[in-house]
Amino acid sequence: MRFRTELDPLAPYKPPRMSQEAAAEHGTDGYVKLTSNELSFGPLPEAEAALAEAIPRANRYPDRHAGALREAVAAANPGADPMRNVLVGNGSSEVLFNLLQLVEKPGEVIFPWPSFSLYVAIGITLGLQTTKVPLTDRHAAKPEALLSAVTDGTRAVIISNPNNPTGTYLTLDEVGTFADALPDNVLLILDEAYQEFVSDPAYAGSHVLTLEMENVVCVRTFSKAHGLAGFRAGYGIAGQRVADYVERVRFPFSVNLAAQVAASASMRTRDKIEARAEFVIRERERVQEAFRAAGLNYVPSQGNFVLVQTGPEIFEQAGVLVREGDPLGYPGWSRVTIGDSGENDRVIGALGGV
Ligand SMILES: *Cc1c(COP(=O)(O)O)cnc(C)c1O
Repeated sequence: MRFRTELDPLAPYKPPRMSQEAAAEHGTDGYVKLTSNELSFGPLPEAEAALAEAIPRANRYPDRHAGALREAVAAANPGADPMRNVLVGNGSSEVLFNLLQLVEKPGEVIFPWPSFSLYVAIGITLGLQTTKVPLTDRHAAKPEALLSAVTDGTRAVIISNPNNPTGTYLTLDEVGTFADALPDNVLLILDEAYQEFVSDPAYAGSHVLTLEMENVVCVRTFSKAHGLAGFRAGYGIAGQRVADYVERVRFPFSVNLAAQVAASASMRTRDKIEARAEFVIRERERVQEAFRAAGLNYVPSQGNFVLVQTGPEIFEQAGVLVREGDPLGYPGWSRVTIGDSGENDRVIGALGGV
């Protein structure tokens, strides 16, 4: 049996070290998990109620088109038509995968780096070349550098905005200028997984841009601000042609019943989601202030995480698991997810050891 050689560099996903040792040292309920940018709160009560109501219907296939979910997404994104402009997927990972399935091969996908490792995995899986364009020394994406990296073979550019793991972002103006300069046969994918946590008014989600420009699409998730990572639901907004093609390649029923009802209910209750995001933003400022006071170098973040220049050990000693920076392209750093106030107190308490 022979396999495609381009798959060789793909190592199986290495989860954040949920170190057996750390568990042994601190006891499994003695430490807090701030490794994966999840929300520390459970789903909204409205989402739980919708789920409970759906359980008896689990013998039936879900709505193939996820119609109610598309309606809820369109209602939250004025101008978007539920069937013509809304993409859905089993997490935003599936939306990203489906989008990259659309482009011609051979071809290349470009993204700033360090960024979300899934972009590399999807690109390689689909047989695309992947090109990494370094972030600036302030850890931000650089539109001019991305533009100069574009070649005749470039099919797509992905920008994580805000960027995981640095928390830096481009304003909507910067995104718009970049989109205008990009050849219109290159797909611009804006991964806005953290858009709810941006506090800078100069930033805005790009959904209007995606309705104006055929080659621009934004991708979002229920895994972060909505607190539904375990159910796997994501969405996107795109022009009609992109949306049509994504639906051609999407697996039937890729968004399961539980995900559909919980995500729709959560989206319909988004004033509560916004309130939670505001809490995270306030807590992020408190954690950053503590890093500053401890003399630690960190990247000011607009996500629900902060990249800080110190190894994970000081946190682990205090029973806090964070994502070590090495596999994220930041050796010697840690990415700390913002948790609830008690969890953030533990993070801040750990700094006594610095
Ligand atoms: C967490 C995250 C996602 C979410 O992926 P899902 O498949 O929706 O859970 C997407 N993009 C980035 C950059 C992320 O950090």
